[in-house]
Amino acid sequence: MRPSVVVNVAMSADGKLSTRERRQVKISGSNDFARVDRLKAGCDAVMVGIGTVLADDPSLTVKNPDLKAERQQGGRPEHPVRVVIDSGARIPPEAAILNKGDGLRVVAVAERADPARVATLREKATVITAGRDEVDLPRVLDELGHMGIRRLMVEGGGTLIAGLVRAGLVDEIYTYIGSIVISGKDAPTLADGEGWVRESDFARLTLADVTRVDDGVLLHWTVRR
Ligand code: NAP
Repeated sequence: MRPSVVVNVAMSADGKLSTRERRQVKISGSNDFARVDRLKAGCDAVMVGIGTVLADDPSLTVKNPDLKAERQQGGRPEHPVRVVIDSGARIPPEAAILNKGDGLRVVAVAERADPARVATLREKATVITAGRDEVDLPRVLDELGHMGIRRLMVEGGGTLIAGLVRAGLVDEIYTYIGSIVISGKDAPTLADGEGWVRESDFARLTLADVTRVDDGVLLHWTVRR
C-alpha cells in the first residue's frame, strides 16, 4: 500500500520558496518551526529532491527532544526514514541527510545513475532504482509502502512537489505564507516543473483549515481525487 503523502512548504507572500539563486530564506518563525517539527515527528518518512539537498544541505532530523523521546517510547527510531529523490546519484557522501542523526536513509535513483556512485551510496543508504532517466515516483512510493511507511512528509522543493502532484500522489498540502516578498520570475515555487496547459489537468484542492501562525498564515489543503 502506498503511503499517504503530506507536502509542507513555507513560501513568501509572493509565492516563492527561496531566492532565484536557490538560496534558502527564513520565511516562518519559531511557532511554525515547532509545527513542522511535530508534523515530521508524526510521519514515518520525510522526502526531498536532490535540488534541495544540493541547495540547503538539510538533515531533516526531528529537533525537539520531547518529540524524539515520544517516537522512541512508541518503538520508533528518533528520526523518520529520510528519502532523497536523485536520478543521477548526485548526492555528496558528506551530505547532512546521510550523516546526521540515527535512522534509515533511502536514496531513489534512476537506471542511468553511475554504478560507481551508486556503490558508494550503498555504504550509507538503501538504494531504490526506479525509472530509466528520472526517478519513477509511483514505484518509489510502492517500495516505501512495502518498507512499512504509512505516512510520508515531503519537504520540497518545487520540482519534486510538481512531479508528485502530477502523478496524483499527494493527499494533503500545508502552505505557510510568510510576511516577506522575495520576488524573481525564476525563484522556486510550490509546484515548478514544466507546468500544465489544460485546465482539466490542474490539481484541485479543498481548503481544510486556515490558521494565523507567527507573522503569517498557515493553509491546510487536501487534494481532491
Ligand atoms: P527539488 O525539487 O528539491 O529536486 C528536484 C530534482 O529532483 C530534479 O531536478 C531531479 O533531479 C530530481 N527528480 C528525479 N526524479 C524526479 C521526478 N520524477 N519528478 C521531479 N523531480 C525529480 O529541487 P528544486 O525544485 O530546485 O528546489 C530546490 C529549492 O527549493 C531550493 O532553493 C530550496 O531552498 C527550496 N526549498 C524551499 C522549501 C521551503 O519550504 N521554502 C522547501 C524545500 C526546498 P535529477 O534529474 O538529478 O534526479
